[in-house]
Amino acid sequence: MVVLKADVAVIGAGAAGLSLAHRLSGHASGARFPSVLLVDAPPGPLRPGPRTWCFWEAGRGRFDAAVRSQWRHLRVRPPAGPAVEGDIAPLRYKMIRSDDFEYLVARDLARSPNVRHLEATVDSVEEVAEGARLQMSPSDGHHQALHARWVFDTRPLGSIPAARTTLLQHFHGWFVRTARPAFDCGTAELMDFRTAQPCAGLSFGYVLPTGPREALVEYTEFSPQVLTASGYEAALRRYVEDVLSLGDLEIVATETGLIPMTDAPMPRRIGTSVFRIGAAGGATRPCG
Ligand SMILES: Cc1cc2nc3c(=O)[nH]c(=O)nc-3n(C[C@H](O)[C@H](O)[C@H](O)COP(=O)(O)OP(=O)(O)OC[C@H]3O[C@@H](n4cnc5c(N)ncnc54)[C@H](O)[C@@H]3O)c2cc1C
Repeated sequence: MVVLKADVAVIGAGAAGLSLAHRLSGHASGARFPSVLLVDAPPGPLRPGPRTWCFWEAGRGRFDAAVRSQWRHLRVRPPAGPAVEGDIAPLRYKMIRSDDFEYLVARDLARSPNVRHLEATVDSVEEVAEGARLQMSPSDGHHQALHARWVFDTRPLGSIPAARTTLLQHFHGWFVRTARPAFDCGTAELMDFRTAQPCAGLSFGYVLPTGPREALVEYTEFSPQVLTASGYEAALRRYVEDVLSLGDLEIVATETGLIPMTDAPMPRRIGTSVFRIGAAGGATRPCG
């Protein structure tokens, strides 16, 4: 069996794996950069679909070229009464589509002298002398091994560890285009609690305008159980029609998410040379 070697193995090319590989890629002359192998599962069930990510950042950011929209004014609406809103300067709330982020990072990594990308499923990670050994199944079926001094693993955990609190953040969103101008482009509605509330947990609407007639509108619950597809459709339709009164609109695209929210301790260092990062290391934030 072929045994590859690298200073650093990054498992998974999602948000965390790509961010780390991008940070580790180097061009400075004379400097020594670690050799990095980024291993991601081939297209199939292990690969997540396109997602919309939002986050806060002050000033210019490393991935600004992939930012679709950004807002400096945020609003939260209680079930009744006046909204709470404000300017978040110097921060900006930025939206990145995962496809754009992957494209940007892949373009930069293709020019990097020290980062290589391999398409393979990582089956196991085992601590060995001076590092760890990965067993991998590439799509051509020939098993490979990799010895790396350091391993950063973003593979999702099979199950959530026992915790005091475990809720699901689950949501369904529509990218809409309205017939008339309906959105305030300068403001993101982070949480709009004028939605019908579930028996257990809570729900809210989420509106990210990308133009006067275009927005991502989502219905989100923090609750113990997911809804059926028709349950999400009905809840989102009620929010769009009865609360936002958007009128005639076209649904351009949809997205759905399920993010476990827990206060379980999530160990980040799971061996002398092996670290969990990203959601597997407990880094998911409660936004849409
Ligand atoms: C629609 C949607 C919107 C979201 N919005 C937000 C948001 O705004 N903010 C936020 O914090 N989170 C958001 N999330 C959750 C978000 O996707 C995660 O926070 C983020 O992707 C976590 O990054 P990650 O790198 O840990 O995992 P992922 O991005 O899921 O990456 C894991 C990678 O591991 C790879 N992989 C899995 N198994 C193997 C294997 N055996 N071998 C090799 N590779 C493997 C997969 O191919 C994948 O590329 C959203 C999720 C969805 C679905």
